[in-house]
Amino acid sequence: MDDNAVLVTGGAGFLGSHLCDRLITAGHEVLCLDNFYTGTRRNVAHLLGKPNFELMRHDVTFPLYVEVDRIFNLACPASPVHYQHDPVQTTKTSVHGAINMLGLAKRVKARLLQASTSEVYGDPEVHPQREDYWGRVNPIGPRSCYDEGKRCAETLMFDYHRQHALEIKVVRIFNTYGPRMHPNDGRVVSNFIVQALKGEEITIYGDGTQTRSFCYVDDLIEGLLRMMESPADFVGPVNIGNPGEFTMLELAEQVLRLTGSRSRLTFRPLPADDPKQRCPDITLAGEKLGWAPTVGLADGLVPTIAYFRRVLGL
Ligand code: NAD
Ligand code: UDP
Ligand code: UDP
Repeated sequence: MDDNAVLVTGGAGFLGSHLCDRLITAGHEVLCLDNFYTGTRRNVAHLLGKPNFELMRHDVTFPLYVEVDRIFNLACPASPVHYQHDPVQTTKTSVHGAINMLGLAKRVKARLLQASTSEVYGDPEVHPQREDYWGRVNPIGPRSCYDEGKRCAETLMFDYHRQHALEIKVVRIFNTYGPRMHPNDGRVVSNFIVQALKGEEITIYGDGTQTRSFCYVDDLIEGLLRMMESPADFVGPVNIGNPGEFTMLELAEQVLRLTGSRSRLTFRPLPADDPKQRCPDITLAGEKLGWAPTVGLADGLVPTIAYFRRVLGL
């Protein structure tokens, strides 16, 4: 990376803490900002003694005056359980947070990368999803606070880019998993692993035939770093995710096999607006960033399971 001082909002979260690790190793000055809503100090505790690392408690919905060269805007709860707990705050975090980070980037002439999401495609009617697909999002459902907040943040990025010539980068992140996921965040990978390790029933929502594509965290972070340093005229949006597509039943089978668990499956109602299929088309990331995922599902689940065994003491 050319420029040295890097701000990571949501830096004490799952993805943010892995990003901080990579930036610190590369020798950058890292300002990690978080309000600890879903993130924890524990995720970055190993970085606290480093001279080039600073942890700051702050909420991105409030203005922030710091001097930095690069901003990764990751602050936002990401799992349905967390973002639906206080939906108004979720939209505020995406929208007011984006405005504040854009205002900051404008003042200090920093480059800004926005962590957007595959949820901007909603419950898609095209498959796999390319970046030029506009999506099918319910504007008034229980997931809307997240989906529409992220869509509005993208709008703001592109308007600041056109109106103020700001250097922006928009990445649409698809389901990502790995160590430091929150054990209680309700996402499918963490739920299944925790249930399998505890010998509890594996909760399949619906009939389990819905699909997702799961990207291992190391691959995702590599994609974010490459996007940040890509030529200024490539602003995205770009999909970053692993196109390997699995049904929830297949995921459950893999988790049971790799944990050696004898947990049984139990079927629960499908949540409202739960997308039936989701899979990224990553042609653009390959062409523009030379990026492709390298870690298959089973290879990524092994260290993730080891992490949960450790934190749960199982
Ligand atoms: P996470 O919940 O672990 O991390 C989000 C972090 O943001 C947490 O540390 C939280 O405390 C912090 N935060 C929340 N609201 C804040 C606020 N108002 N001010 C300051 N900090 C705040 O989730 P994650 O999986 O690491 O997700 C990081 C980003 O990536 C999010 O923007 C999310 O929308 C996006 N994303 C993640 C995935 C995924 O599969 N993990 C998929 C698509 C998009
Ligand atoms: N802002 C910030 N840090 C800065 C500069 C701006 O947090 O260093 C916030 C500020 O609260 C402002 C928002 O970013 O409301 C948008 O800034 P911009 O300059 O685009 O708009 P304005 O100041 O005119 O509202
Ligand atoms: N899911 C499930 N059991 C669980 C948690 C989730 O079957 O214990 C399903 C959920 O209904 C969805 C998929 O797994 O179809 C992925 O859910 P997650 O919340 O991880 O991500 P998202 O829906 O945001 O892609």
